[in-house]
Amino acid sequence: MTYFFETYGCQMNSAESAALALACRERGWTAAADGESADLVLLNTCSVRLTAEKRALGRIALYAALKKKRLARPLTLVLAGCMAQRLGKDLRTRFPAIDYVMGTAARSLFPLILEAAEKALGVETFPELAEQAAFSFSPSHLEERQFRSFVPIMHGCDNYCSYCIVPYVRGREVSRDPRLIAGEIRLVGERGVREITLLGQNVNSYRWNGDGSQSGLDFAGLLRLAAEEADRSGVRWVRFLSANPRDFSAETIRVMAENPVFCRHLHLCVQHGSNRILSAMNRGYTRERYLNLIGEIRSAMPDITLSTDILVGFPGETGEDLELTLELMEEVRFLYAYMYHYNPREGTAAFNLPGRISEEVKRERLSRVIALQKKHTAALLKSRIGSRERVLVEGISRKNADELITRTERDEMAAVPGSVSMIGRFAELTLSSLRGNTFRAKELRPCPGV
Ligand code: SF4
Repeated sequence: MTYFFETYGCQMNSAESAALALACRERGWTAAADGESADLVLLNTCSVRLTAEKRALGRIALYAALKKKRLARPLTLVLAGCMAQRLGKDLRTRFPAIDYVMGTAARSLFPLILEAAEKALGVETFPELAEQAAFSFSPSHLEERQFRSFVPIMHGCDNYCSYCIVPYVRGREVSRDPRLIAGEIRLVGERGVREITLLGQNVNSYRWNGDGSQSGLDFAGLLRLAAEEADRSGVRWVRFLSANPRDFSAETIRVMAENPVFCRHLHLCVQHGSNRILSAMNRGYTRERYLNLIGEIRSAMPDITLSTDILVGFPGETGEDLELTLELMEEVRFLYAYMYHYNPREGTAAFNLPGRISEEVKRERLSRVIALQKKHTAALLKSRIGSRERVLVEGISRKNADELITRTERDEMAAVPGSVSMIGRFAELTLSSLRGNTFRAKELRPCPGV
């Protein structure tokens, strides 16, 4: 019995695919080299943009055609993720080749799908079951032979940013039991994982009241717990994603600054530099609040690097609004940014807003933001040449098989000659030169005992 997964979208989908693959392996399934040869294909889909959904539709059509050709050996086709949550029923009508639709809240029913696939039972009633499922976290999200792992700490989002589909497809925020989070850190640490990323759509609003106490445990408290567990179990680097300025507390900054296990890199989505647009986006903070927060973070951790998300072309955006975004970028100087222009998403509050911007203007504004970011990235990386760095060796460079690709805790990439036996281990190198956005180094020194 073999399985093949195609995973689209965010890190949350990657973590969930890792958990589902683990469930397959625990039942004796093995990974197939490709979908054509697999017994079960799972498409873990994304709905954040229309383009992502169109791509998934293309994949569904491809596997539907394959099923028609492969009558002798049944192929079970599972649609999972945000698009399954959003369009599930319609898609099953449109593509009867889809055997199971498993929305984001229905992952706990995956073992039944595997059982059905194993027995080839044909379970018409199953989709109904899917809707009754309550969201539950998997015990582990560790991929095979991995030295780093995602550790989801929460699911869903209550923020309802006006352009975002996530709250409608992933539901309200559910914070995970801290004992289970600590257990997963211990488990992956004992299995050789050296770097973890605490994962959630909006990690700063983590709050666990499961113990019934009023105060409960907030994100800063969870970071303390994660640091203790990491220290005990050999995890050396802890990152978290996605952070939101709206709920980013001074206590979180203090805990990060006190403990070197927290990588000195932070991805803090700003989206825009104009208060008028931030309010229309329902982001819940102002540019002043964001800049103050950056100031607090930098005074507590002066060597930290920052990245962000920037969304231009939101309905009603003026040239002045864009200038405010460019000015904010000048003031912060992000190491890098994910930059994109607004895409109307049906079902979101912004979908019906007046003042849509033409594709041409959106592209022109985006190109100005990208050009400025490129300038900042180049200058920041250049200023780091000569620095001695600890790195985690991630793998063989795709560009040069004689080189290894490594990453600093500041999320900078460096290529260096070295032996594959170093993959998954910490080492030291000097950032000696720069090619594009990747540093070059001459030699790698293992870090003993790390
Ligand atoms: S914080 Fe906003 S953009 Fe992020 S997932 Fe929640 S609603 Fe979407």
